[in-house]
Amino acid sequence: MAWYSSGVSNSELIENLWRNKLIKDERVKEAFLKVDRAHYSPISPYSDSPQPIGHSATISAPHMHASAIEHLLPSILPSPSRPAPRVLDIGSGSGYLTHVIAELVGSEGGTVVGLEHIPALRDLGARNMAKSAQGREFLESGRVRFRVGDGRKGWKETTSDDASTDGHASTAARRRSSVNERSPMGEVEGQGERQGEDKDEGKWDAIHVGASAKEIHKELIDQLRSPGMMFVPVDDDDMGLQQHIWEVKKDNKGEVSKRRLFGVRYVPLTDPPK
Ligand code: SAH
Repeated sequence: MAWYSSGVSNSELIENLWRNKLIKDERVKEAFLKVDRAHYSPISPYSDSPQPIGHSATISAPHMHASAIEHLLPSILPSPSRPAPRVLDIGSGSGYLTHVIAELVGSEGGTVVGLEHIPALRDLGARNMAKSAQGREFLESGRVRFRVGDGRKGWKETTSDDASTDGHASTAARRRSSVNERSPMGEVEGQGERQGEDKDEGKWDAIHVGASAKEIHKELIDQLRSPGMMFVPVDDDDMGLQQHIWEVKKDNKGEVSKRRLFGVRYVPLTDPPK
């Protein structure tokens, strides 16, 4: 299917994804139109195919990004009961999907964390995002943060007072952001929960996993809010030949349901290279 949606410009690529019904929601289309894929894919940015970005990683094909956002949309968009959605993008790689998600989480404190296990790719995501004025604003305001950690364990980040009313990160938020960074020695600091916070503080409305998991890791399910949703590719046959996307939902009572969606081909979630 891939090449059918390719274009010669960003808008043509997105229009083709729309025409081919890979993007179905107007709000998703608007978000994709706002992000130039050329800032994230050094080669053939408007082709509907994955492209190498270094460190054995690829930027996924646009139709896969579209499918991920369409599935997660109810958990990404702000709503009266959830005005500031929190989204975790595991294996953020180029940072492209992280940016598109940031266009959708709203301006009332919604946040997206792009998580990478390779520091150079965490930096690449941030550098790519800084190529546009909107991307720079997302980074400065704290709407988007790029972190280093093992995505199989998820990520905890508290954000209750991160965004001040003018849309810029508060001093407290900036302080916390820097505390959560890796130290120069490589350890991750500051991931402990604070006392007295509510049970879903630091959890995620939506988790997107951009590399295939050996299993649906319990830590990730535990880190979903109630309600919350995860989109994750899984190596789900014993021969290691097939992968499928799984949708994992947690309802507002905390009940978890899992549904296998369709076959895919993703690079694996692994230990970081030595
Ligand atoms: N969503 C990205 C996909 C990048 S490819 C994009 O479209 O640009 C998958 C990414 O997962 C790679 O960047 C790889 O470094 C990362 N990755 C692999 N194992 C990981 C792990 N255990 N924790 C975090 N990231 C991981």
